[in-house]
Amino acid sequence: MSQRLVTDVLSLSGSPLMCSTQSLQEAPRAKSVHFVASSKLPTRWGTYTAFAFVDDAGKEHLLLAMGDVANGEPMLARIHSECLTGDALFSLRCDCGHQLRSALARIGDEGRGVLLYLRQEGRGIGLHNKIRAYDLQDRGVDTVDANMWLGFDADARDYGICKPMLDHVGAHRLRLMTNNPAKMAAMRDLGIEVLERIALPVGRNPHNEAYLETKARRMGHLLEG
Ligand SMILES: [Zn+2]
Repeated sequence: MSQRLVTDVLSLSGSPLMCSTQSLQEAPRAKSVHFVASSKLPTRWGTYTAFAFVDDAGKEHLLLAMGDVANGEPMLARIHSECLTGDALFSLRCDCGHQLRSALARIGDEGRGVLLYLRQEGRGIGLHNKIRAYDLQDRGVDTVDANMWLGFDADARDYGICKPMLDHVGAHRLRLMTNNPAKMAAMRDLGIEVLERIALPVGRNPHNEAYLETKARRMGHLLEG
């Protein structure tokens, strides 16, 4: 890495370089979340019920459920972290929007399942910091180093609210749609039964190839079908 780039990074972050000492493997703890309201949510893939929650920090989260999710049978599930650029603005820098739509479509096909939409943008670092990290990536830093150079964990997401959200709708046995083995482990550490992993190999394109390759090589994501 050139000295010029390091200098730029320092001025961008406005603080000395530092790397978090928090382990990526740190076991998640269940956190409290409060149910607010629920309503019907018709989508192009069928009609979901949307359950709104708020956590102790005031962040608002959603759980979408379709069919009878409290009957004890295994069900499709997606734990999706917010990505405004990918989910709503059709960004090709990542695969989030494709994964979101594919998960909703699969649940719609089976007529049963849950999708948790967690408001932890940019792998937990927030929208502004995600754009800062993108700027670093535009200059040759990979997605893991970009987060760490800005003073964050490579993955700062916290899944602690998933358990009480799932408990609220009686969903306990999941067939988890994810390419991320760490998410499987996080769910199991929270006491959530995960019966299988279902790959979501969607959204690969020339703009996100390096990003996906980095997630596979440095974060253990699985890209196979
Ligand atoms: Zn994304």
